[in-house]
Amino acid sequence: MSNQIIEIEGVSKSFGGVHANTDISLTVEKGKITGLIGPNGSGKTTLFNSIVGYHPIDKGSIRFEGQEISKLQVQEIARLGLLRTFQQTRIYGNMNCIENMLISVPHRKMGLLDMFVSHDRETREKAERLLEFVGLYEKRLLRAGGLSFGQQKLLEFAMALMNEPTVLLLDEPTAGINPTLINGLIDRLKRANSEFGITLLIIEHNMRVIMNMADKVYCLAHGELLAGGAPDEIQNDPRVLDAYLGAH
Ligand code: ADP
Ligand code: MG
Repeated sequence: MSNQIIEIEGVSKSFGGVHANTDISLTVEKGKITGLIGPNGSGKTTLFNSIVGYHPIDKGSIRFEGQEISKLQVQEIARLGLLRTFQQTRIYGNMNCIENMLISVPHRKMGLLDMFVSHDRETREKAERLLEFVGLYEKRLLRAGGLSFGQQKLLEFAMALMNEPTVLLLDEPTAGINPTLINGLIDRLKRANSEFGITLLIIEHNMRVIMNMADKVYCLAHGELLAGGAPDEIQNDPRVLDAYLGAH
């Protein structure tokens, strides 16, 4: 059995005349942290959307645990254990943190019957444990909308963990976060990987952040895969440096 939990082969996706992804092939190794970098507009979010079934791809193949998923719907893919977070946070501002955690479960676990029973004690305890894990336990009964942006990102991360994903895709998790919270978030992401065994694929604009986390890094530019390799290789790859410098 292959160690590559996600296998992307020759994936292309256009929007009208815009070639957002062209012939992309890459793999994500089970149990590892893989980074996806590239200048703004290079096609990173589009590739995430294709993986989780948000839109159909024009060409190519996407396999998860050996199974072709490129024709499946978002909910079917989520039920297989492949989840994503968004560049913009999606929490319910008028609910408190615990309530946000409890309503995030349906993605994976809830059957029809569960809709009619109140959340059991076990689920609530899990919600509290995970809020503690991300450092929000003290805020558990506060309105999520009143949290700082960085805390909302941490809540969203905890909400994703409620579903016990096999693979979690994170779209710029540190974007817009106060520098004092960034290290805490990086530490939590690493622990979700090492302690819970969750495979991570992370889009990150900040080179320093991804170099300090990822086992392997891929770089996109203009919708194409420019390079893939160990962080120190990518960091010193002249094509990658050109792509970044050229973009500024
Ligand atoms: P990144 O996440 O690397 O910044 P995106 O994947 O968001 O890049 O965008 C890649 C290109 O595809 C951009 O030119 C963007 O404008 C275009 N694009 C992305 N999504 C859409 C869409 N839904 N409709 C039209 N164009 C899109
Ligand atoms: Mg993006």
